[in-house]
Amino acid sequence: MNSVLPVCSTVHSQLKLLKNYIESGQLLRAHKLFDTIPHPNIRIWTALITGYTSKGLPKESIKLYNEFIKAGDLNPDKYVLLTVAKACGIVSDLNKAKQVHADAVKHDIHSDIILGNALIHMYGKCGFPQGAMTVFDSLVLKDVISWTSVIAAHVNSGLSHKALQLFREMTLYGLRPNSVTLSSLLPACSYLKALNTGKVIHGYAIRNGLVDNLFVSSALVDTYAKCLSIMYARNVFHKLPRKDTISWNVILAALFSNGHQEEALDLFETMKLEGANLDSATWNSMIGGCAQNGKSQLALRFLLQMQCSGFKANNMTIASILPACTDLENLSGGREIHAYCFRHSLNRDVFIATALVLMYAKCGELDLSRKIFNMIPRKDIVSWNTMILANAMHGCGQEALLLFQVMINFGYKPNAVTFTAILSGCSHSQLVDEGRAIFISIKRDHGIEPDVDHYSCMVDVLCRAGHLYDAYDFIKKMPIDPSPSAWGSLLAGCRVYKNVELGKISAYKLFEIEPNNPGNYVLLSNILVTAKLWNDASEVRKMMRDGGIVKEPGCSWIPIGKQVYTFVKGDRRIPQCEKIYAFLKETRKKMRLQGYLPKTDFVLQDIDDEEKEEVLCDHSEKLAVAFGILNSNGKPSIRVFKNLRICGDCHNWIKFMAKATLMQITVRDSLRFHHFKDGICSCGDVW
Ligand code: ZN
Ligand code: ZN
Repeated sequence: MNSVLPVCSTVHSQLKLLKNYIESGQLLRAHKLFDTIPHPNIRIWTALITGYTSKGLPKESIKLYNEFIKAGDLNPDKYVLLTVAKACGIVSDLNKAKQVHADAVKHDIHSDIILGNALIHMYGKCGFPQGAMTVFDSLVLKDVISWTSVIAAHVNSGLSHKALQLFREMTLYGLRPNSVTLSSLLPACSYLKALNTGKVIHGYAIRNGLVDNLFVSSALVDTYAKCLSIMYARNVFHKLPRKDTISWNVILAALFSNGHQEEALDLFETMKLEGANLDSATWNSMIGGCAQNGKSQLALRFLLQMQCSGFKANNMTIASILPACTDLENLSGGREIHAYCFRHSLNRDVFIATALVLMYAKCGELDLSRKIFNMIPRKDIVSWNTMILANAMHGCGQEALLLFQVMINFGYKPNAVTFTAILSGCSHSQLVDEGRAIFISIKRDHGIEPDVDHYSCMVDVLCRAGHLYDAYDFIKKMPIDPSPSAWGSLLAGCRVYKNVELGKISAYKLFEIEPNNPGNYVLLSNILVTAKLWNDASEVRKMMRDGGIVKEPGCSWIPIGKQVYTFVKGDRRIPQCEKIYAFLKETRKKMRLQGYLPKTDFVLQDIDDEEKEEVLCDHSEKLAVAFGILNSNGKPSIRVFKNLRICGDCHNWIKFMAKATLMQITVRDSLRFHHFKDGICSCGDVW
């Protein structure tokens, strides 16, 4: 008896000491003590495993659990599994998570409700809703936490429909959702823009007194905003008895994203007056909101205010401004932000510098992209990829290849994105042999399995160079399902190289996979019209009409000063309308005198040639370029943007205009940049 008691008390005191060490943050000492214990019992194991997670070292917890299993002399119990499940969730380590689940099944404790709930939560954190569902189904008894966790697991993985369905089942079982359930579920409504379901949940929250919960109400505001019901969002927000920074931030973002910028600005003032705490998310929301709504000046002013109140502009801040400049091709805004970054030495940050590289490239200023890229002190793979892509977009395939070589020589390891960028460079510059070599090297030299994007890019390389039958063979031999963009490249190639046979094959494939894309019908119809197959062409147009498929209207825009001017085909409500149409007519005449023939095969209708020319005359890109030339005020270059592909006749006309006016004309269409200079285009007439 006497010999047993001291051991017991030793174990007890060892556990106590261990816990003391952990609590005071002395993990190393705790672990040393643990190592001196010859046969630690399961409580001692659990204490140390829990200790690591609670002190922010979940990976150590998982390691220790592995040792525990390897030691093999003790069976895991509910408590040790609970703690390691938590650790797996935090690091979202799916493999370990599956192992923990398997251990629970092996020792037949997986249907314990508390452990089961923890496992569901763990799978949710790992982004593996299937696992969460398996555990959930195996639970004999399910409580609100089980349902809430399995719903959250689906919402977090973007399976919003399934999440809503589970919620319905839950209420059918007579369980009462709590505030966590509702705030977990509402993002699914936001995602699906399911306004009515959002309202039902709102009603439920009101009836059950959950609407004053800040998490629920903030989620409601967000849902209403995403469903474009800003009125409801506003109501929920203003009825809040207590507002915290998160709820303020949500309503600000909601107002901005719904175009109520003035109201957002007013509310921001109120927020300050009411003494709410502004955090960096608030500032980022204001800056991003202003930038997205074209108020780059104001965005910059907020950037300054943010700094004055002691917040540093972080990557998020700059990242929230720059894409706005890129999307609107708002070069002047982008330049101001660049200047700001320069003054505050932010441009040495690789993340920001890379965003600048992309912004300038998308605005058509490749040289500036190059300059900034060259000045990045420590480039990472993303910045290399961005610069390669920038060259590809602008049809500088050789330079993209060169950069790729330099990058390899510097010892950077290319990833899947690198190869997509480089292949797209090869295709836009018609570098077929180089493209083939790169494609083969992806797996052979770099150990990367080519993905669907790489295959599509390779098809594009072949098609743009006119190797249409090779491309068709390549598609047929692909080990993965060809994407719409692979067939789309073939179809586009058939338009350029006038191949009716393959054009029909690829178009009919596309009608199957993406029946609602108007572009495919238009391209096939173009091919048939060019081949003078009028009946076939009208057949295609009939298919389009019968399917209710409408062609996206062509639209071009041009930034002049701080203003962006937009044009659609045949637009008569534009500034300087008379002047522009007169200019077009006159240049047309001059060009005809110099032997220029309009490319009338780009007109769909079977009408006579003179009429066709009329139809071509008012394309949106012509209107925008004419407007740009008329308002260039001596500037040597203009930049025009178009939402669709540029048409062949406009392409020809702009080449001519570039020569006649000695201007450099840049047009970015839906696919790439065209740089027109001295009567030629950088795309080599293939796009
Ligand atoms: Zn045109
Ligand atoms: Zn071109």
